[in-house]
Amino acid sequence: KTKELGRDGYQFFTSEMKDKIDMEARIETDLRVGIEADQLELYYQPQIDLSDGSISGFEALVRWNHPEQGLVSPAYFIPIAENTGLGPALSRCVLDQAMTTAKDWSNKGVDFGRIAINLSPQHLKRGNFLDDFSAAMQKHQVSPNHLTVEVLESYLFDDPNSDIANILTLLRERGILVELDDFGTGYASLSHLSSLPVNGLKIDQSFIREINEDIKQSGIVSSLISMTNLMGMHVVCEGVETREQFTILRQFSNCSAQGYFIQRPMDKQKTESWIEHWHPARFLAEIDKIQPL
Ligand code: C2E
Ligand code: MG
Ligand code: MG
Ligand code: MG
Repeated sequence: KTKELGRDGYQFFTSEMKDKIDMEARIETDLRVGIEADQLELYYQPQIDLSDGSISGFEALVRWNHPEQGLVSPAYFIPIAENTGLGPALSRCVLDQAMTTAKDWSNKGVDFGRIAINLSPQHLKRGNFLDDFSAAMQKHQVSPNHLTVEVLESYLFDDPNSDIANILTLLRERGILVELDDFGTGYASLSHLSSLPVNGLKIDQSFIREINEDIKQSGIVSSLISMTNLMGMHVVCEGVETREQFTILRQFSNCSAQGYFIQRPMDKQKTESWIEHWHPARFLAEIDKIQPL
């Protein structure tokens, strides 16, 4: 079939591109319906304070309960949503659900710290982000000290008029924490960090993956944490998958950890019972028992 189209790879490439666009359009239609039909569901993954094992918060991670395909990963549909203009609608749905949960847990006296919400760049750029965010807080009566927002450093770099920086500054003034996600994968340097409107950063999992294999790598992470702390910001280490990584991080200064070693993301109900059964001292003691340092 590709031969009919032309003589060489160029035509083939365009037909592949067309397939990709067709597929994106199909997913977009499905997703639009899915948002309306409540098929999006937030999962929650704990972040724990390494000094005492207490819960510092939960990252809200969206999943799509697709009627035919089952649970679909955000790595797959978030980029499509952002490309096709569905970013703001999806984001509003995430905000509403996260705030519903925050309110519900506060009412029940569940000790969850903060819920960290990943923000949509499209919503920040051209949706009425601040209005939508405030409306959701208002509607559910959520206190700002139960909320964190996560932004990628690229948002702040592609932001010539500082519109996004201004939005983040306003959120911070209200008591919402702002964290830089996936730190280390982009361009942000530590010196630049002090000029950004952020309260803390999340060290990307690619750094954490290597701390137990490479002494230099663990040195980098260790000094990254100390310097960030010196600037008055806090650190979350992402993607902690092994006991070894966890133990190394515990020797460093002030930070929180998030990763499969502690707990995978869970639905709301499972998260509630996880919180109920979380016993920081016991968790840490178990780890020390296996391999005393
Ligand atoms: P992220 O914000 O960096 O989220 C962390 C990702 O790492 C999550 O993937 C989480 O499940 C995964 N993870 C956690 N612990 C471990 C671990 O120990 N090992 C490994 N290998 N992975 C771990 P997930 O849930 O698939 O989300 C992927 C990305 O999709 C997120 O990266 C975020 O950029 C985006 N995303 C997720 N939910 C939302 C949302 O509600 N709104 C927006 N705008 N983006 C979202
Ligand atoms: Mg995140
Ligand atoms: Mg991340
Ligand atoms: Mg990521």
